[in-house]
Amino acid sequence: TCAAPVAVAIDGADLPRGYGLPATPGRPDDLFAHEGQITKAPVRALTLAALQPRPGALLWDIGGGSGAISVEWALAGGRAICIEPRADRLALIEENRARFGLAHRIEPRHGTAPEALTGLPEPDAIFIGGGASPALFNALLPLPPGTRLVANAVTLETEALLTQLHARHGGELLRIELARAAPLGTMRGWQPARPLVQWSLTC
Ligand code: SAH
Repeated sequence: TCAAPVAVAIDGADLPRGYGLPATPGRPDDLFAHEGQITKAPVRALTLAALQPRPGALLWDIGGGSGAISVEWALAGGRAICIEPRADRLALIEENRARFGLAHRIEPRHGTAPEALTGLPEPDAIFIGGGASPALFNALLPLPPGTRLVANAVTLETEALLTQLHARHGGELLRIELARAAPLGTMRGWQPARPLVQWSLTC
């Protein structure tokens, strides 16, 4: 295959062509340890753009999964607390923060939101990739000034919740529909991904 191994370099000038870690979010899924639940690269790129990482900023990554959102946030210079209730996925978060050399920037936290948020340092941004519920939004809203919230929904129930929250609080509601070309018999056809609704709010 033509997949290049992961190599991290401050200045890629000495690396062979095609080596080194890509500089922008939406890095290939295969760079991360995951078991299918990962936010796929194109949606990850849109999500990181919506989160607007800044150097030194703290992210709460709620529903951390593989930790891919926290990794890309930390690669942009931020710090992240990655909250995940499943022990097998916490192991993936540990693996990925080590793989990218980000153990000092990403703190995995075993727990379920909103309970697991108690006592955490105030974030600059909050991402909800899992565990969205009325109780979670009651705990998070209204946002402290300067804070940014991004939530992704793939289920109708979460989409309905985000639609109501957008009506009440404003912000931006984005529907993301992507399709990838895949074999269809001897030819090719578009394989659509599940549509995703993303709500972003800045206070
Ligand atoms: N963004 C992740 C994928 C998230 S999948 C990635 O790119 O890898 C959603 C995750 O939310 C699952 O791992 C699930 O265990 C977690 N989750 C579900 N309910 C939760 C809750 N109440 N609090 C925190 N995490 C939760």
